Amino acid sequence: MTRRPTILVDCDGVLADFVEATLDAIQDETGKRFSFKEINQFDIGRALGLEPDEVKKMVARICTESFCRDLAAFEGAREGLDALREIGNVYCVTSPFRSPFWMYERQMWLEEQMGFTKANTFHTSAKYLVRGDYLVDDKLDTLVEWEKRNPGGHGVLVKAPWNQPTADRSYSVEVAPNKFELPWRGLETAAGEPGRHQWQDIVLLIRSAEAVKQMMTTYNAL
Ligand SMILES: [Mg+2]
Repeated sequence: MTRRPTILVDCDGVLADFVEATLDAIQDETGKRFSFKEINQFDIGRALGLEPDEVKKMVARICTESFCRDLAAFEGAREGLDALREIGNVYCVTSPFRSPFWMYERQMWLEEQMGFTKANTFHTSAKYLVRGDYLVDDKLDTLVEWEKRNPGGHGVLVKAPWNQPTADRSYSVEVAPNKFELPWRGLETAAGEPGRHQWQDIVLLIRSAEAVKQMMTTYNAL
């Protein structure tokens, strides 16, 4: 009998549609409408070429009451989580914004919409310190840093316009203190709009990796 794996899951860009709500906030503040596909790097302000005062307004909106609580869940996210819960022990690891509301609202959202409790949620940007067998995240730098500190752990990249590889399939990542190109060898979902098909991929990738582990255990016991 193999041990149940620990599966860590990010929230923004994986469970919650942070980008769509932020694009709405940018439109309210600046009158400019941008699309999801234009966000070709993790820094939204830089990706969209926003002026410093526009970035300030965007961040101020993200930090207002109810912004975090009102985020939409991606289609298929809850069902995907429940499928992962059949495979292993699932924890949410989410990096908070500095606002008086963010962490409380995020916790409520995770409990009400995703069935988490305070016993299986981490609010931290130091995700590399959280041990696990898998980390599902849409930020490659986070996965690279986490894999470095969790030998044997698999990063699962949720593909999005802000984490596309270059032509040679290397990614530009920023791991302190250097920025470098690296060939990414972790697991990854198919590209496209986040949602149900990506969640089906996440479950399939982890289920397959666990099936391989199970086979190896059986084989080694022969
Ligand atoms: Mg994220």
